[in-house]
Amino acid sequence: MESILVLAHTETDGTLGRPALEALGAAKNLSVALGGADLRVGLVGGNVQPAAHGIATCGAKRIFAAAGPDFSQPRYATDAAATEAICRVAAASIVLASGTSRWSRVLSGVAQRLGGRADTHVTNILTDCGRVSVNRWFYRQRMEAVLQRDPRPWFILVDPGSQPAWRGDAGSATVEAVAVDLPASCQRTTILGVREPAGAAQTIRPDAELLFVTGAGWTKKQADGQTHAAEAEELIRDFLRLSRASLGSSKSLVDLSGEGQAVLSFLSHLNQIGQTGATPRHPKGLATCCHGEEPHTVGWRFITERRAISLDPNCGWARGKADVLYVADAFAVMAKVNELLASAGNA
Ligand SMILES: Cc1cc2nc3c(=O)[nH]c(=O)nc-3n(C[C@H](O)[C@H](O)[C@H](O)COP(=O)(O)OP(=O)(O)OC[C@H]3O[C@@H](n4cnc5c(N)ncnc54)[C@H](O)[C@@H]3O)c2cc1C
Repeated sequence: MESILVLAHTETDGTLGRPALEALGAAKNLSVALGGADLRVGLVGGNVQPAAHGIATCGAKRIFAAAGPDFSQPRYATDAAATEAICRVAAASIVLASGTSRWSRVLSGVAQRLGGRADTHVTNILTDCGRVSVNRWFYRQRMEAVLQRDPRPWFILVDPGSQPAWRGDAGSATVEAVAVDLPASCQRTTILGVREPAGAAQTIRPDAELLFVTGAGWTKKQADGQTHAAEAEELIRDFLRLSRASLGSSKSLVDLSGEGQAVLSFLSHLNQIGQTGATPRHPKGLATCCHGEEPHTVGWRFITERRAISLDPNCGWARGKADVLYVADAFAVMAKVNELLASAGNA
């Protein structure tokens, strides 16, 4: 019989972020599917008590923790030592965690220390007669594989955004502190600070309802024979501000930005969606001035409802890539949309 440990690191306020709650949700479902497999939780962070209280009713038999200043910030050596110690005490056969940057960096190494195996970018966990298998996509989300493994512990890192988050009442939870041996050599790396873009410049919003994609058409000569980069920038900026959508882009537009052309000042290669870009998860997507070629739309694999605005009625979106294609001038459409959003009080 399998037993399950969920590993979660806390956010700066001591609570658990949505990715951690998704891993917990997946673990709960797995526990039920396995006929009530033992569920334990391991917390790592500066102060983990708020997190433990927040998940007090999740059904975990025990909650272990490596807590304190040594674990408040991500650092390979201390995170690896903490999770190794928790895994040894919890002695679970399956270890579930969210594929956050913090866990992705550390948990394969911990699996190696424990003689186990790790699978990353897991998007689904299935059971069949007590046998567990996981799904993950390969070759830029073109092929989906179902994997099973015999060695234990089996570390499964679930892709954030792929699972429903656990929801339940908070309560009062008892945390069992796990002793972690931390030689001085584990503490050589110190985080001096965090640099991040100012709120308005932060255009990538993984939790947004909508992915708004900009294509190279925004920079092309329009019906009047002129380019309108400044107007494009203003329309897009206004829409992002009014809708709080996440900004994606085609490769062509990102490459133009990289070459220093006057296009959208806030675009970087991090916004690129597609075969050589990102594959984000949002319930809805709206592409504008983008042709919808396969290397781009392959990045839309996990966008549930897809719409596009293009002048070209024969573009890729029209060929089965979008649910709805508006054959229209995106400048005019987005100006109207912004006007409606502003009058609806989103300003
Ligand atoms: C190996 C490889 C990997 C690649 N990886 C990626 C990737 O990861 N992501 C990616 O995006 N691409 C990728 N590409 C490039 C991809 O094939 C396309 O070249 C790119 O997506 C085209 O970008 P686009 O649609 O914005 O530009 P274009 O093809 O130039 O299309 C612009 C569109 O804008 C429309 N338009 C112009 N003005 C307006 C207007 N006023 N209103 C409405 N519509 C308008 C035009 O009709 C046109 O359809 C890759 C290519 C290769 C070979």
